[in-house]
Amino acid sequence: MRIGTGYDVHRLVEERPLILGGVEIPYEKGLLGHSDADVLLHALMDAILGALGIGDIGRHFPDTEARYKGISSMLLLAHVKRLMNEGGFVIGNADVTVVAQKPKLAPYIDLMRRNVAEALACDEGCINIKATTTEGLGFEGRGEGISAQAVVLLSEKSHFKKL
Ligand code: MG
Repeated sequence: MRIGTGYDVHRLVEERPLILGGVEIPYEKGLLGHSDADVLLHALMDAILGALGIGDIGRHFPDTEARYKGISSMLLLAHVKRLMNEGGFVIGNADVTVVAQKPKLAPYIDLMRRNVAEALACDEGCINIKATTTEGLGFEGRGEGISAQAVVLLSEKSHFKKL
């Protein structure tokens, strides 16, 4: 088994879509970034890459490269999943926390979870996604940005006959 953690922050700005866990969420602002700035998936990918011991998303998908401009982080996650499988691992479980004062994310959590489970080819029961506020404190509380934290456990593929 291997364990990894991930953390990411993106700034909330006007005239950007808000995309979290591959779901576009109606809101007056969105996250700023070179890709689609899906902070949830970025933290998750960093946790998987960390567990594999192969760096972080900045190393695999440099923001200096034009081909990653505006790219869907779901595509990046598919690439990270391939790296994970090539490394001989599958998802044991993942737990992700998104910290945002607004908007309310509860209605979208199930869809995010389904997206992530599909992308990583694991049961939805292996993926947990939570959202919390900071009671108005800090940059998330002031609505200046959204952060996400992730922990993943990877299991050796050889333990799963059907894969
Ligand atoms: Mg990021």
